[in-house]
Amino acid sequence: MQKIVVEAPGGPEVMRLQPFEAGPPGAGEVLVRHTAIGVNMIDTYHRAGIYPLATPFGLGLEAAGVVEAVGEGVEGLAPGDRVVYFAATTGSYASHRRVAAMAVVKLPHSLDDETAAAAWLKACTVEFLVERCARVRPGQWVLVTAAAGGVGLLLVQWLKAVGASVIGVVSPGKEAKAAEAGADHVLGYADMPARVREISGGGVDVVIDGVGKATFTQAIDSLRRRGLHISFGNASGPIGPVDFGILAQKGSLFTTRPTLFDYYAEPADFEAGAARALAMLTGGQLRVTIGQRYPLGEAIACHRDLEARKTVGSTILLP
Ligand code: NDP
Repeated sequence: MQKIVVEAPGGPEVMRLQPFEAGPPGAGEVLVRHTAIGVNMIDTYHRAGIYPLATPFGLGLEAAGVVEAVGEGVEGLAPGDRVVYFAATTGSYASHRRVAAMAVVKLPHSLDDETAAAAWLKACTVEFLVERCARVRPGQWVLVTAAAGGVGLLLVQWLKAVGASVIGVVSPGKEAKAAEAGADHVLGYADMPARVREISGGGVDVVIDGVGKATFTQAIDSLRRRGLHISFGNASGPIGPVDFGILAQKGSLFTTRPTLFDYYAEPADFEAGAARALAMLTGGQLRVTIGQRYPLGEAIACHRDLEARKTVGSTILLP
C-alpha cells in the first residue's frame, strides 16, 4: 500500500509517496482499494496550508475503487462492490483507504471508475450550488468563472439542463471546451463586467465564482440589482475581508460562501443530493471530461499543472 504524505505545508514538492498499511476497517468503515483518485483544487489549498491541517497529513478527498473489507455494523456493502466516495477528511491520494461506509456510494454498471472519480465530488458540488444554494430558475442569467475547469464544465451543463442562460468565463485557449459544454456565451476575464452586463441586459441574476480574490470585484459588478453572488472557491487566493457596505452600493446584492460539506452534512441531504448527482451523471445530462491523468507517483506534476491553469475539465490520479 502507498500514500502521499506531507510533512509540512508548501509547494507541490512537499508531496512524498510512502509505503503504509491502511489496516482493517473499524466499526462503520470499509476498506477501499482505489482504482482512480479524483483531484480537486481544494487539495492544493490543503497542501499549501491555506486550509491548515495537523502535520503530517495525507491529501485528497475522493476516489473510486473496490471494497476489500467491511467493518462491524456495515450494511449494504460487501467485498467486491465497485464504489465511489468523498470525505471531509484528507487521505485519498493513496492506493487504499479506510472510509466511513455512510460516505460510500455503489457505482452502477453505466459509470466507470475513472469517470466516477473525476466527477463525484464535483457533481455533488454542482448539485448543491445550482439546486439548493442558488435555486436557479429557467430563464435566469448565470455567470460562471473558470467555466472549462473540473467543476466549471459540469456547472455549465447542469445550468443548461435547468434552463438557465449561461455566460462562461475562461482563460485563453479554453473557450471551445466551455462552448461544447453548452455555455451560451464564452468570454475572457477582461470582459467582466462590461460585456457580461451588455449580453445579459443589465447584469446577471447569479454569479458562481470559484476563482476568488482575482475576480471578486468584477463578479460583484456583473450582477443585476438584488443579484446573488456565490463565492465557492479560492483558485486565485482567498478574497479576504470585505466591507458589507459594498453590497448596498452595488444594488442590494446577496452573497454567500458555501461549502459542499455543509450542504451534505445531514444524512437526508446527502442521500437526496447524491441520488440527484448520480442520476445526472448516468442519465446523460452531464458529460465528464477527463482532461488529465497522472500516476499517483506524479502528484507533484499534477499539482503544478493545476496551479498553473494548464488543465481543462477533471484531473485524476491513478494508483
Ligand atoms: P479547476 O479544474 O476549475 O481548476 C482551477 C481553475 O481556476 C483553473 O483551471 C483556472 O481556469 C482558474 N483559475 C483562475 N485563476 C487562477 C489562479 N490564479 N490559479 C489557478 N487557477 C486559476 O478546479 P476544480 O474544479 O477542482 O475547482 C474549481 C473551484 O471550485 C475551486 O475554487 C474549488 O476550490 C471550488 N470548489 C469548492 C467546493 C465547495 O464546497 N465550496 C467544492 C469543490 C470545489 P482558467 O484558466 O479558465 O481561469
